[in-house]
Amino acid sequence: YAATPGDVTRTTCPYCGVGCGVLVKKTADAVSVEGDPDHPANFGRLCSKGLALVDTLGRDNRLLYPLIKDERVSWDRATDVIADKFRSIIAEHGPDAVAFYVSGQILTEDYYVANKLMKGFIGSANIDTNSRLCMASSVTGHKRAFGADSVPGCYEDLELADLIVLTGSNLAWCHPVLYQRILAAKEKRPGLKIVVIDPRKTATCEFADLHLAIAPDSDVALFQGLLNYLDKRGGRNDIFIRNHTNGADTALNAAKTHTLGCVADETELHEGDIIAFYELFLSTRKTVTVYSQGVNQAADGSDRVNAIINCHLLTGRIGEPGMGPFSVTGQPNAMGGREVGGLANQLASHMELGDPVHRDLVQRFWTAPRMAEKPGLKAVDLFEAIHAGKVKAVWIMATNPVASMPNADRVREALKKCELVVVSDVNANTDTAACADILLPSASWGEKNGTVTNSERRISRQRRFLKAPGEARDDWRQFCDVAVKMGWGEAFSYEAAADIFREYASLCAFENDGARDLNLSALKDIDAQGYDALAPVQWPVSENIVKGKARLFADGRFFTQNGKASFIVPAASPDKQTTPDFPFVLNTGRIRDHWHTMTRTGRSARLSQHFAEPFIEISPRDAERLRIKDADIVRVSSLYGLALTRALVTDRQRDGSVFAPMHWTEEFSSKGRIDALVAAVTDPLSGQPALKSGAARIERF
Ligand code: SF4
Repeated sequence: YAATPGDVTRTTCPYCGVGCGVLVKKTADAVSVEGDPDHPANFGRLCSKGLALVDTLGRDNRLLYPLIKDERVSWDRATDVIADKFRSIIAEHGPDAVAFYVSGQILTEDYYVANKLMKGFIGSANIDTNSRLCMASSVTGHKRAFGADSVPGCYEDLELADLIVLTGSNLAWCHPVLYQRILAAKEKRPGLKIVVIDPRKTATCEFADLHLAIAPDSDVALFQGLLNYLDKRGGRNDIFIRNHTNGADTALNAAKTHTLGCVADETELHEGDIIAFYELFLSTRKTVTVYSQGVNQAADGSDRVNAIINCHLLTGRIGEPGMGPFSVTGQPNAMGGREVGGLANQLASHMELGDPVHRDLVQRFWTAPRMAEKPGLKAVDLFEAIHAGKVKAVWIMATNPVASMPNADRVREALKKCELVVVSDVNANTDTAACADILLPSASWGEKNGTVTNSERRISRQRRFLKAPGEARDDWRQFCDVAVKMGWGEAFSYEAAADIFREYASLCAFENDGARDLNLSALKDIDAQGYDALAPVQWPVSENIVKGKARLFADGRFFTQNGKASFIVPAASPDKQTTPDFPFVLNTGRIRDHWHTMTRTGRSARLSQHFAEPFIEISPRDAERLRIKDADIVRVSSLYGLALTRALVTDRQRDGSVFAPMHWTEEFSSKGRIDALVAAVTDPLSGQPALKSGAARIERF
């Protein structure tokens, strides 16, 4: 596997969790990209965003030099000020008065260094990430069911399945290449059935055999009903349940009340459609259930994940080709970040901050002076603590929370009050950068080296093919520079990303007698050449599994203490947020051609052609009732904020619900920040915000 075959660089797309391989060809005066035919995620395919990557390489709006209060300073000066301020706040108020808020956009090596600095040297676990907004409910669901945050299957399972259930996922727009792989499989094998479960009739429904337009927030009821149906109709795999699971009887007992009638009431679906879905699931052994943000971004997101997994455990459909529950991550490195402890409650290599044995092991490996002793603040709580003045300094990296967090106006208020806000970014003009005391220029895609992990646990290299402009630096180096100034130079003396990756793999191997299976211990001696040539591989990559593993749990052993998977009983449904004053369910999400807050894709004219401005989808009946016509400007308001946006009247939308894209920020549209309208309601277990079911009022402007 050659990293640079000829004059071409192999790298990985920086957008979604599919993690497509990209070939970059550079000549003296041009750069071009194409899909990597040898990359096992995409086999040469790219979607519209991947194909437009070259459009985003320009230097417009790039942040080129460190700035303190808009004044250009040297890196030396900027890192001195950050280190001094962090040190004095820690001395006066303790380590929990400072925080990092990072991103599923940064590389695994960046994440590792940030975690090491905060959790082992500063001594706080106040490091969270925008992955909290993306996958935290799946992490909780995986841990509860399997004993560790581990995705069981691989993309090939989608091609081998006879039934694919896509729930809470507009795969056609949000993970386009994976969707293309499914369509190609269906073309070859028309018997492959696709069921889409989504309140909206999205592009993903186009080739579906069945679309269940469920009522918002009724997902748990649908899957509890499925569990009950499978039990009553002979769908149980008793041998699997007995040998490999705990808690089936309790879960089945709890699901008993979910009769067809009750499920039809809660989901507002026709009983006939529910039966059609349940019968397909019952009769199709090779079933994969794919789920994404429509499941995760909910006040009961963790329970939704476990309600899905329960159905796979009951039927024993996990660990074999063509079957299993499958969480597809939103971001390019949401999973790589999790592997190195990128959430406030985790340590690297799937170890837990709450476990004293793990804490001690990591502290000795790092020779860390001050190990965090308790989990830190999750994203929503972190910004609330900044607002309350408890966290006095925050370093935000590669993310734009003033646009993407729920109740985003309050996040801006919090940052305006904070004693020190450091923002590391590629772009000088983000809504969050406007709140920074210190701005640090980061190297962008194509300018940095590292690894990312995609939704099927596949680690791929991002490789540098461009020089970073101005004084932009790697994100990991920025943390190291401050660590040196704080007196921890020896522990942060990396020269290259390969050194960090090797240290992470060595931590996986440290005092590991095989009990910690989910690791990269076989890569602990990787050298610079090996790292440069690293071919895409699915973790674990340990002594016994040197080539990685496509599927976990094939032997029926899970990562729990007794090796058995757990059925989980969902709690009672959370309260609805709508009120007579704010009667519409506000669903926020992605469109096909933009990414997050458009800091990259906003630069591409062709990507902006798909949708040129913010909009809100509303059903024809609701539009008529409110005397709103297609393309009218409407006022969307909630208890928390206001947006002005174009109406898109469409029967894709259910009555009583509206959908608005999450991408537009004040940089692109003065009143388009839709997440400012969403309440900061979270899943109590995962801390993931309910970004799919806010409450809003819609009026013609
Ligand atoms: Fe990039 Fe995702 Fe498109 Fe692949 S599917 S090219 S990873 S945005």
